[in-house]
Amino acid sequence: MFRVGIGTDRHRLVFGRKLIIGGVHVENAKGAYGHSDADVLAHAIIDALLGAAGMGDIGYHFPDNDPKWKDADSMALMAQSVGILRRAGFEIINIDASVHLEQPKLGALKIQMAKNVAETLNIPRNAVNIKAKTGEGCDSVGKGEAIEATAIAMVKFDEAILEAEVLKRGNKVTLEP
Ligand SMILES: [Zn+2]
Repeated sequence: MFRVGIGTDRHRLVFGRKLIIGGVHVENAKGAYGHSDADVLAHAIIDALLGAAGMGDIGYHFPDNDPKWKDADSMALMAQSVGILRRAGFEIINIDASVHLEQPKLGALKIQMAKNVAETLNIPRNAVNIKAKTGEGCDSVGKGEAIEATAIAMVKFDEAILEAEVLKRGNKVTLEP
């Protein structure tokens, strides 16, 4: 059974913060404000994955009021999300995502982001596509006040994965988030 999920995210751009996108440190005067490392692309992809599996959202699994996730590496949270999906019997098929940012231009960095995501999700490099869009000077993205990301994920439920996980863990796996 194939299922899809969508994820969106937005962070304010402020001085004095790093700009981390898909695990890549992008040189820029402003960075994304947030409790974790504020990796907007990672957050959108995590939400798309959890959504596809019907397992809630990033805020449920990694609450932003929990000191544990302060300045957290969002790619590590993505890796943990893979485990959450696997324990429920899901494998990840592909990811398509767009980053909305006025500047700087991401150019070849998109390739590095896609590589990071593919490695973290343990799927083929060509199963991850990252696009970049500007805000055309309009709204918060266009005025350089925010960065946004949109992602879609396809996953597949496989009884064999669920059974293997049950065997490995030695107890019943629940689909409750
Ligand atoms: Zn976020």
